Formats: sequence, structure tokens, C-alpha cells
Amino acid sequence: MNEFTLIKKFFAAQGLQRDDVNCGIGDDAAILTPPPGHQLAMTTDTLVSGVHFPTTTSAYDIGYKSLAVNLSDLAAMGATPAWVLLSITLPKVDQQWIEAFCDGFFTLANRYQTQLVGGDLTHADQLSITVQATGWLPQQQALLRSQAKTNDLIYVSGTLGDAALGLTVVQNKQTLSSAATDEILIKLNRPEPRVSLGQRLLNIATAAIDVSDGLGADLGHILEESNKGAIVYVDRLPLSPSVKESLTPEEAIHLALTGGDDYELCFTIPPNKQADLEQQLADIDCAHTCIGVITEKSGLDLQYQNGNPYHGTALGYRHF
Ligand code: ADP
Ligand code: MG
Repeated sequence: MNEFTLIKKFFAAQGLQRDDVNCGIGDDAAILTPPPGHQLAMTTDTLVSGVHFPTTTSAYDIGYKSLAVNLSDLAAMGATPAWVLLSITLPKVDQQWIEAFCDGFFTLANRYQTQLVGGDLTHADQLSITVQATGWLPQQQALLRSQAKTNDLIYVSGTLGDAALGLTVVQNKQTLSSAATDEILIKLNRPEPRVSLGQRLLNIATAAIDVSDGLGADLGHILEESNKGAIVYVDRLPLSPSVKESLTPEEAIHLALTGGDDYELCFTIPPNKQADLEQQLADIDCAHTCIGVITEKSGLDLQYQNGNPYHGTALGYRHF
């Protein structure tokens, strides 16, 4: 099978056809019509085998996650995802593998009504996936990292540290109960991008970021871009039952602060918008926890709710 037959068979055969796609897979470029009066939000992320996912990861999970991490970036801007491009570098043509990859990829694409509108297929030794996702936003409403204000409350969605714990299990560094293993492997391999949460934060949140490198590092980006500091109460960090039952309280806090790959949203809201937030989030299934407050004084001040300082590190994953 040559690349053109592969593209036709696996990538062009998706079910979803959006009205705003004027020309999709098959020409030299896709032609798209954004809704009038909106701005585009664009992002791209590459996943390299052995770097961004263990070499043992299933094709389904690679397909799912390569899209999920991009939709998570759009969610962190409050954008509505619409169109995606997919570039794959394959060490060999294995149709079963491609089929399972597409199954994972399109399951998530369909869940968020995003259409694959083009891409590239190349051959090289190292498996690598690059997804580029585009969405849209009402003018001037994007959730930026730079607009957190002093006294804003800091929130985080879902639970933290699960994906990092999942990675230790995959790497055979830890053995957990089978229920806990199942729960955290889902969080590691199939994170749910917080798209509805991001959309509902428009007009409420002052800043937002998705937690991909660890809460300490990612909240650090908000603080730096907003020129603020924060107090975070480490015993408020939301933890799953699996993390709680598998780790000591200190280990759990460390993982929640430094573990990557959770793809939850961390966001700030003015203190008088708490009721608005609860009302906006009432009908979506998305836990959210207030973990601290933005301060005028720079730096991330980690402490317990009783005022005792936390002495561990908050640094997360870095590629370089
Ligand atoms: P070109 O040579 O013009 O760059 P290609 O031969 O790479 O075009 O691709 C042909 C068409 O198939 C294009 O519309 C391209 O966007 C699409 N395409 C290629 N690879 C993929 C893929 N992995 N997923 C989706 N569409 C793809
Ligand atoms: Mg061309």
C-alpha cells in the first residue's frame, strides 16, 4: 500500500464532516471558514515514542493522546476546537497499528466535533506524531496566562499526580491494587481535555493554563506572565483515591506539584466570581478545587492550611 492509498483508507474515511470545511483531505491545503466575528486559536504538539509516551503504549492510546494534548491547549485558551492536521512518521507500515491509532484518534475527534482536514505521512526510524489543532473564540475573550490579578483565587480541575503515578507503574517502579492501576492508566493514556470547562471560564477566569509539566511549573508560568506571586495550600491539592491509597501524604503532595501529563486546567478568578463559577459549572461533570490565592509579592509560597511552610520542590518536567 502506498501513502495515498493509506491516507484514503484510514484518514480520509472519518465520519464527521463539518459545514465549515470547504476543502478537506485530498488537495494541497485545507480551506476552512471560521465563524464571523471570531478569532482563531492554533496550537501544535509533537509526541515522540520513548520521550512523550513509553514505547509499550498501545496504538489506540497514542492516537487518542496525540489529539488530547492539543485539545487541552485549546481548552486552556477557552477555545472551541474545530479542525486538526495530523503528521505521522512511521518506522514501518503496519495496517493493524494504523487502524488502532485511528480508532483512538477519531474517538476523541468525534467527541469534540473536530474534523481531520489534512496532514502528512512519512517514513523514518523513530515513531513520531505531530498534531496541529485550530479552534475559535469570540473576539478578545481568550484566557491568557498574563491576566491574573492580586487576590484572585487559584483553582485546578480534576485531580493531580495520577498520570505521573501511572508512569511509575508502566515503568515497573511501583505496583498498585488492580483498581488503582486501571484508574491511573486511563488518566495517563486517555486524559480528557477540559474543553467544556475552558469554554465556560470565558468571562469568569482572568488567566488559565493546562497542567502538562506539573502544577508548580505551570502555575509558575501564570505568575511569571502576570507578574504576580501566589500562596498555594499543599493540603488542598485534589488527589484521586488511587493516589491517596498508594502513596504517603508527603509523596502525594510531591507528585501533585511536580508530576506532568495530567492535562487539568489551572485557572484564576476574581474573588467575587465564585458564585458565577459554580453556576457555570453546575451542569458539567468537572471537579474543581480552590487551592490558593494570587499575591502581589512574587514567588510561589507553598504552605499547609495551618500556616506551616512546605519544604519540598515544586519544579516539574523540563525537556532541556
Ligand atoms: P502534498 O504532496 O501536496 O504535501 P500529500 O501527498 O502529503 O500532499 O497529502 C495529500 C493529501 O492528504 C493532503 O490533503 C494532505 O493534507 C492529506 N494527508 C496526508 N497525510 C495525512 C494524514 N496522516 N492525515 C490526514 N490527511 C493527510
Ligand atoms: Mg501539494
